[in-house]
Amino acid sequence: MITVKADRCGYCGACVGVCPVGAIELAETRLLINETCVDCGLCLAACPVGALQAEGYAETDAVPVRRRYDVVVVGAGPGGSVSAREAARLGLSVLLLEKRQEIGSPVRCAEGIAHELLLPFIEPDPRWISAVVSKAQITVEDAATLTGPTEGRQGYILERRIFDRVLAEEAAKAGAQVMVKTAATGLLLENGVVRGVVARGPAGAMEIECAVVIGADGVESQVGPWAGLDTALPLKDAMACAQYLLAGIEIDPACCYYYVGQGVAPGGYAWVFPKGEGKANVGLGVQADQSADSALSYLTRFIESQPHLARGSPVTLVVGGVPVSPPLPRLVTSGLMLVGDAARQVDPLTGGGIANAIAAGDTSAEALAQYEKRWMAGRGRKMARNHRLKERFGPNQRTSPDFLRVFAVAVGGV
Ligand SMILES: Cc1cc2nc3c(=O)[nH]c(=O)nc-3n(C[C@H](O)[C@H](O)[C@H](O)COP(=O)(O)OP(=O)(O)OC[C@H]3O[C@@H](n4cnc5c(N)ncnc54)[C@H](O)[C@@H]3O)c2cc1C
Ligand code: SF4
Ligand code: SF4
Repeated sequence: MITVKADRCGYCGACVGVCPVGAIELAETRLLINETCVDCGLCLAACPVGALQAEGYAETDAVPVRRRYDVVVVGAGPGGSVSAREAARLGLSVLLLEKRQEIGSPVRCAEGIAHELLLPFIEPDPRWISAVVSKAQITVEDAATLTGPTEGRQGYILERRIFDRVLAEEAAKAGAQVMVKTAATGLLLENGVVRGVVARGPAGAMEIECAVVIGADGVESQVGPWAGLDTALPLKDAMACAQYLLAGIEIDPACCYYYVGQGVAPGGYAWVFPKGEGKANVGLGVQADQSADSALSYLTRFIESQPHLARGSPVTLVVGGVPVSPPLPRLVTSGLMLVGDAARQVDPLTGGGIANAIAAGDTSAEALAQYEKRWMAGRGRKMARNHRLKERFGPNQRTSPDFLRVFAVAVGGV
């Protein structure tokens, strides 16, 4: 019987076509081999990355490759790539590890960001901007439209598949080494001090020593907990999100639409963000401890309730989690710091995290203690305030005029 090495398989499907008995099924990012396999071995030769192995094949315990860098960044999202870019620009040797085979894909984002938050870190570029927005409209369930569309701050709906990759390319241009399909699997620890990471990629296992590890590994972060930092999220601070990219709809291409109400999205909100050419990211987030149903079910009902959206066709489904907790009390420990979603640096009112991840990445050259202090004195303080506001207005009160005023400011629609 043939088995698949999941950390090597690129899910390309090349093996499926050569199997004479149809024993291989490619289910997006799972390759399944069923019992009809006759061990002919044809698939082994078809695989471009050596991800299949015959039964009885004993893999020799490869000696881990040892490397050394000044900085190892885990995760090539916006937070990780900007951290790597800035550290490399300072002349440090930097390794950026990304477990996915394609940086930026699949997208887990509604892709909205304010112009003024983006500008300090990267010049807006039409290659990764789908729409320029300048208006917002907030609609309350069972009530009239609350605002607008009102002229608000200028912002962008990004094309994150390209945006994330461009940031990683900038890191590489600055001198960082980037490795894709290479996952950090643990930390090298010495008397409680982080001395590097253990990683696994197509070439096998690696032990990478470094002076500082930057954990930028997103909402699913393990790097912080591996180092003893408590990043656990209570359910009330976790938003479960689902989104379709809908094509074939008509909306104002410069307006971001928000819908609030317990029936629409308990504890959260629904959004319609234009993506140009009759397309929009149409999604919602529900507070995980509030929803009787899955975010996807709420989304289906929301779209059905809006005739102008129901006319569209979904061409992409995005699902994901957003941490909406207060700032973590500790972002650093000896030899390690966390940035972005891994550090729970998302705005608790809006769920927006791209700008904070980038801003946190930009402080990576500072002494670790300075990073924590500066974050808490600046954007961290605002996030703590927004979390207090989220707590003050319980899920049932998030259609009150007072909360909606706060929310409108947070989404930039005033
Ligand atoms: C549905 C949805 C809608 C959203 N909409 C918006 C929005 O409109 N605007 C906004 O600002 N924010 C939005 N967000 C939040 C935003 O996507 C995140 O805050 C942002 O991506 C955080 O960036 P990051 O670099 O911290 O993490 P990520 O972008 O999540 O990147 C983390 C990277 O680390 C990699 N990784 C993880 N573990 C490992 C490992 N062990 N080894 C190697 N690599 C690893 C992952 O593959 C990933 O590429 C949304 C989120 C969701 C789920
Ligand atoms: S060994 Fe032969 S029968 Fe088995 S999965 Fe591969 S190609 Fe199919
Ligand atoms: S050919 Fe190799 S990489 Fe492609 S799906 Fe099959 S096992 Fe995975």
